[in-house]
Amino acid sequence: MDKIKLAFFDAKDYDKNSFIKSNINEEFEINYYDTRLTEETVRLAEGYDVVCVFVNDDINRKVIDSLTKMNVKLVALRCAGYNNVDIEYAYEKIHVVRVPAYSPYAVAEHAMALLLTSIRRIHKAYIRTKDFNFSLSGLTGFDLHGKTVGVVGTGKIGRIFIDICRGFGMHVIAYDKFPAEGSGIEYVSLDELWERSDIISFHCPLTDENRHMVNEDSIAKMKKGVVLINTSRGALIDAEALVEGIKQRKVGAACLDVYEEESNVFFHDYSNHIVDDDTLARLISMPNVIVTSHQAFLTEEALTNIADTTLDNVKEFFAQEYSKNEICYKCPDVANCMQEHGKKCF
Ligand code: NAD
Repeated sequence: MDKIKLAFFDAKDYDKNSFIKSNINEEFEINYYDTRLTEETVRLAEGYDVVCVFVNDDINRKVIDSLTKMNVKLVALRCAGYNNVDIEYAYEKIHVVRVPAYSPYAVAEHAMALLLTSIRRIHKAYIRTKDFNFSLSGLTGFDLHGKTVGVVGTGKIGRIFIDICRGFGMHVIAYDKFPAEGSGIEYVSLDELWERSDIISFHCPLTDENRHMVNEDSIAKMKKGVVLINTSRGALIDAEALVEGIKQRKVGAACLDVYEEESNVFFHDYSNHIVDDDTLARLISMPNVIVTSHQAFLTEEALTNIADTTLDNVKEFFAQEYSKNEICYKCPDVANCMQEHGKKCF
């Protein structure tokens, strides 16, 4: 049988290293493109069976039409979230598989790392001591012990984050659209979560319904000095409303691993450029905002799992009737989910 051919978009050195290791027997022919998959670059997928993509590749209607015309059979996401795929339009045109979990620990631990860095001013202290400035002025933090943390989304990552917070002696409350019965988690309404939390951390997927769930109105309901942590998807937070909330001293700090308009800047070196995004520039200029560029997933363990699971997904898709990691817009409706019947989504 001919080798399955993958066009690999948005390839970084760390991706290549882990996929080369995982494809050690060269079962797959993989061509690594630095560029993202967009309407402009989709022609690079000509002659391939699979496009392998990440969080900022744009699999919109036009891209899906082009891929189907080229007879590309599969979109293999190297991530869990799939808000960058027009999943409803893809149905019955092109199959989509993903990596549902690669290391929930990586993301939950990064969320806590951001929180500790922010509230104990580690980012400031690091720069000071590098310059032999040992002054403590302005570095006063606060204890996490006894504080209330509100967790939005109690899936794989959210639950690990909850365990970590409990280890710090924090009181945890949570909101989830589908609360986990019998989990021992104290679920509250979103409004109650906004009102009671000293710290709020987001671990839910981005959907049309929760886009900008942090906005002027919800910020108004939050405690003064609240710390927001977003390692989920940027558009959960209206970035301009966040800037305003910080300027008004309502939001005490923001820890952002994701940003609404990140696809234009994240993963690239713009250190010699003027950044055009004024909102991002304003956020980065604020002393109580920490931005990392979508790196929460970036651990050795996660990269190995991503490569192994992605290639297993591709192999399984071409060899079998059923792909356990396939997704479609009908999947949430478990009663009508083809996967429940051991079949592909269409
Ligand atoms: P998961 O599917 O295990 O859990 C998501 C939870 O969110 C579920 O409990 C679900 O019921 C809940 N949910 C769904 N819609 C909701 C809504 N509107 N409001 C509140 N809760 C809702 O997913 P996970 O593995 O825990 O990942 C969570 C998110 O983390 C992903 O969707 C992804 O966006 C993000 N993520 C980020 C990185 C990173 O590197 N920064 C890496 C992996 C995942």
